[in-house]
Amino acid sequence: MPQKSAGPGFESWGRYPKLDASVVPLNWTSDFPLRPPPATRMLPVGAGRSYGDVCLLGHGTLLRTRGPGLSGGMDRLLDFDPATGILCCEAGATLGEILDFAVPRGFFLPVSPGTKYVTVGGAIANDIHGKNHHVAGTFGRHVPRFELLRSDGTQLICSPAQNANWYAATIGGMGLTGLIAWAEVKLRPIVSRRIRYTGIKFSGVEEFIALSEAHAKSEYTVSWIDCLATGHNFARGIFMAGEHDTVAAPLKRSKPARLSLPFNFPEFVLNRWSVGVFNALYYNKQHTKTKNAIVDYEPFFYPLDKLQHWNRMYGRDGFLQFQCVLPWEAGQPGLLEILKTISSSRLASFLAVLKVFGDAPSPGMMSFPKPGITLALDFPIRREIAFDLLERLAAITLEHKGRMYPAKDATMTAGQFQAFYPQWKKFAAYIDPAFDSAFWQRVTV
Ligand SMILES: Cc1cc2nc3c(=O)[nH]c(=O)nc-3n(C[C@H](O)[C@H](O)[C@H](O)COP(=O)(O)OP(=O)(O)OC[C@H]3O[C@@H](n4cnc5c(N)ncnc54)[C@H](O)[C@@H]3O)c2cc1C
Repeated sequence: MPQKSAGPGFESWGRYPKLDASVVPLNWTSDFPLRPPPATRMLPVGAGRSYGDVCLLGHGTLLRTRGPGLSGGMDRLLDFDPATGILCCEAGATLGEILDFAVPRGFFLPVSPGTKYVTVGGAIANDIHGKNHHVAGTFGRHVPRFELLRSDGTQLICSPAQNANWYAATIGGMGLTGLIAWAEVKLRPIVSRRIRYTGIKFSGVEEFIALSEAHAKSEYTVSWIDCLATGHNFARGIFMAGEHDTVAAPLKRSKPARLSLPFNFPEFVLNRWSVGVFNALYYNKQHTKTKNAIVDYEPFFYPLDKLQHWNRMYGRDGFLQFQCVLPWEAGQPGLLEILKTISSSRLASFLAVLKVFGDAPSPGMMSFPKPGITLALDFPIRREIAFDLLERLAAITLEHKGRMYPAKDATMTAGQFQAFYPQWKKFAAYIDPAFDSAFWQRVTV
């Protein structure tokens, strides 16, 4: 059995809530199940890139598949078949490590979130989505098989054909069904690191929707939206589309990021004024309505990864993220109400992202994406203000038949969660009796 340690502490990306737990590093699949089992409940965790408490368990035992600073752990790439593009790896391998291996061989991830520092286990357990959701669906759709280990020693190979219920419960199952030991991921071929990029300035939600429809065949689309702008600038933003370049070019491995934010910013740095200035500069750095460029995949997919520990910008108290999806029927009025509520609040968010989800069904019982419009933004925690605002945004989401994303959440109530995910009771039957999470405790009281 691996050595048990009380630290270093494990934080989620939003650094809220702060909960104490014991941490057990897992280096090999055979390190689990723990013998003897701990006296507390357990939760497997990856890189801690979830924003809220889905990867936390107060007074529990975290089974950590990656070491601090993403070193060591269950990080091995096990097999790769270039004929099918199927890569098999341990669940603690990060998407960045897969890219380092795959890009020089002419392959790329099937789906990627806005950071490459997430583990494969975490990507499956939250059934993550990327800029290509409208054409590729979620990450889980590209996972042909994985192994699930239960605390009683049961080992289940899960695929759409084998243990299909466990496959569906574990994809998007927030780590509660057992430990994913290894998984297969089907990669897609590329011939270049380059992305053919188009940026288009838009004004208002209607124009954003029209652009999304016009670019429905672009492989990647995402928009930045200025949530502070009011008056004739209300809901202005930049729509971004991209395709892998089809002209062959050298497929080198990326260089490691060297910049790091060394300390927590004081509270006053991020305020309505400073974020307003940032937003105006960001919007106006593109001088023309449309801009075309050839860019490397790193800045296109992972602009924030350039600066390690950027979450310290929000200060010691951390921040809250809100992400919802609103179905098409209610999308536009619901989104307008959310945007107006945010722009009239006293809180500033500059990392605001808008995107259209497609209709490819998610394979997970509890997966977040469904067809419609998704909006994601961050708010610094400023005493009660951020919590009040999040409560109002959750209520608007519910009223418009949308739902919120557990991977980004630290505030939704049990009533809201159960209305967003009415299938939660069916899912609960698959939870490992020795497993639990702070999120699950909060939303099922
Ligand atoms: C900058 C940034 C951008 C992001 N962009 C996106 C985005 O575009 N789309 C998106 O969907 N998400 C996005 N996210 C969220 C992130 O992709 C997810 O939260 C992801 O699940 C984090 O993976 P992780 O390895 O850090 O896992 P953790 O956060 O440590 O854990 C996440 C969940 O996975 C479970 N888990 C982890 N490992 C295992 C395992 N081996 N077996 C079973 N369960 C396990 C945990 O219990 C927990 O429930 C972003 C996050 C950041 C910080």
